[in-house]
Amino acid sequence: MTVFGSGDLPPARNRATRAGGQASLGGDGTGVCLNRSRPESGSFIYQFRPLSSMRNPNDTTYISTGAVPTAGRWRGVRFLYSVNALAQLPPDTGREVAFAGRSNAGKSSAINLLTSQRQLARVSKTPGRTQLLNFFLVEPDRYLVDLPGYGYARVPDSIRRHWGELLERYLTGRAALRGLLLLMDIRHPLTDMDRQLLDGCAARELPAHILLTKADKLSRGAALAALAQLKRRLATNYPGASAQLFSALTSQGIGEAHARLDGWLGYREEP
Ligand code: GDP
Repeated sequence: MTVFGSGDLPPARNRATRAGGQASLGGDGTGVCLNRSRPESGSFIYQFRPLSSMRNPNDTTYISTGAVPTAGRWRGVRFLYSVNALAQLPPDTGREVAFAGRSNAGKSSAINLLTSQRQLARVSKTPGRTQLLNFFLVEPDRYLVDLPGYGYARVPDSIRRHWGELLERYLTGRAALRGLLLLMDIRHPLTDMDRQLLDGCAARELPAHILLTKADKLSRGAALAALAQLKRRLATNYPGASAQLFSALTSQGIGEAHARLDGWLGYREEP
């Protein structure tokens, strides 16, 4: 599909990468902009391919992104597909950030807030997808990956083993993975599984950033004290990990979380 649009040239620092064509989400979020050129008329030509055509993870025919920051980038994030086996992962060439946390920690609410979309993460909770790695497309070669929430006793052992293995192999072997955003309810931080994940990150020197969620549940003083205590524990055991307060209810911490994601995805210098 080709549609025509017009507009000003993008910011100077991105002109070089954009001049040769680049990929980004279409304005209506239904497709990926494959190429852009500027004919004599002054209009841009965009070629779109519907997202549904990208569901084959081995299809790498789209042009890699020039990593162009735009205000609407997060609002344009779309669910791409679910992965149940390593072979289904997209090519290990881009940048991605994984979201992990105990069930009910507030992971879905955080993803929805960070993308300014009320329902985006609901897909990760639909039957059949709860134990899968759910990929969300920021731009081609830029993904958010929603990992299964842990802590549910009712998952059959065979499934738990399968996803445990999948998760471990993904976390240890995925080169595109630039960071782990780990969500913990501020009232119950550092569960056993949280620590296992932080151990895994430390083992491969993968940066981890903790969102202490539901900070609105505590008074400001108590929330700051909980953060300070967590930071002390991290400094001792996980010096590669950082932490902040977060609330999906009040949007507290959204800027700091975006900055971290932007850094890991290559949109700005890492904080
Ligand atoms: P998930 O299972 O980790 O995806 O957790 P959800 O995002 O579904 O949240 C679990 C529950 O916690 C829901 O009832 C949310 O409304 C609530 N919740 C999530 N984030 C916050 C928050 O920042 N503040 C408050 N007060 N409640 C929250």
